[in-house]
Amino acid sequence: MLARFFDDITLNFSPWFSAGLARKIPRSVYDWKRAELFRYTVRYAYRHSKFYRKKFDLLGIDPRKVKTPSDLGDFFTTPEDVISGAEDFLCRRPQIVFESSGTTGKNKRIYYSYDEIDRIGKYNAAGLALGGVTHDDRIVNAFDFCIWIPGLISHKGLEKGCFFELAAGKIDPAEVYKRIGVYNITVLMGEPTWLIKLTEIAEKKGSYPLKFIIAGAEHMPEGARAWMEEVWKPARVRMVYGTVEAGGILGFEAFEECKAYHVDENNFYLEIADPDREGYGEIAYTTLGRTTMPLIRYKNRDISRLSDKICECGLPYRKLERLRGRSDEMVVASGGNLYPLMFEDVLKGVDCVTTDWQVVIKSRGMKEVMELNLEVRNGCADETLRERVFSRIKSCYPDLWKNYSLGTFEIEFVRHPAGSLRAGRKLLRLVDRRRVQY
Ligand SMILES: [Zn+2]
Repeated sequence: MLARFFDDITLNFSPWFSAGLARKIPRSVYDWKRAELFRYTVRYAYRHSKFYRKKFDLLGIDPRKVKTPSDLGDFFTTPEDVISGAEDFLCRRPQIVFESSGTTGKNKRIYYSYDEIDRIGKYNAAGLALGGVTHDDRIVNAFDFCIWIPGLISHKGLEKGCFFELAAGKIDPAEVYKRIGVYNITVLMGEPTWLIKLTEIAEKKGSYPLKFIIAGAEHMPEGARAWMEEVWKPARVRMVYGTVEAGGILGFEAFEECKAYHVDENNFYLEIADPDREGYGEIAYTTLGRTTMPLIRYKNRDISRLSDKICECGLPYRKLERLRGRSDEMVVASGGNLYPLMFEDVLKGVDCVTTDWQVVIKSRGMKEVMELNLEVRNGCADETLRERVFSRIKSCYPDLWKNYSLGTFEIEFVRHPAGSLRAGRKLLRLVDRRRVQY
């Protein structure tokens, strides 16, 4: 197929060639390529996968007539489909498997072939080159190398671009800190919570001038970002948005001026399912060109909004705004829509709490209670904490404050020692426990 052939040719040149090309190709070419690959994926999946054949037959979908995602009507795939029957998605013999670190208890299994991982590596290398990483840079890859994906695919990117790599994996940040000076490291790659711990060490013991901090696989609290850039001056933080199911990077912040993720439109056809009036809805994407376990209109639970505007940086890829939270973390309570980003905005202005927190909505009798579980630094009195949080709510979310002032719900504070809330890999930010009576 022409669209795929075009990619294969360009990917075999250096990552800088691919990166240079990315800005020169007009959006219309990407749109054409994306549409071609979408049509191909739907037909291919129907021919080779038990899951898609069964679903399409059941829904009366003729894959030969499908030209755009909307031709599939309300057909979407979900994490539950993958959890309950990952092997039914397979179109060819798999060679490597990854698992997600789910918040729901059951892991998702996603299968790939080695040639797909190689291809992901080539795109990652081009992404690094595009963002300004060069062969003079020395990079620590501190993403996890366990059975979920970021360590390995970051490594593949560095390998395909022939970059210098310290393949540390997610080890004790103190061990990496000791080596930053030894190897003249200029770029750090890792998860935000890990990078925060490393930055705390650097703040105490002295930092080094870095060029980039590339973070992903978790949400980065806004306050932490500015603080990291200050500690590792003149470093700039760049976020990438990826998931195990996506097989790497769905979106990336290419440059300073982007202020959002550029969608990788070479590898994904991204849609927003059931958008609200402001355009926010659940992200759904189709993998383009994956042949082992293609995902078609996969709803990944994250809530965001797509922008068609051409970015100041000149990249033709569409932009995805900062995630608002996950659809299973959106809660209608306290007289409005609550979402994790809201509490992040409130708490980033309260200096005596850490970036780990959890909000639990529960009911007591007839009353709704918003319980703020906060890790409070020593020396901050209860009254001071209340005042600071309330003043932030008043200024950031006046409607929420109004509902509180009217007595429609109560706010309670629960203090926790620093570092205690994040027991597992991921901390669920907003939890609805109203069905449980206290
Ligand atoms: Zn941009």
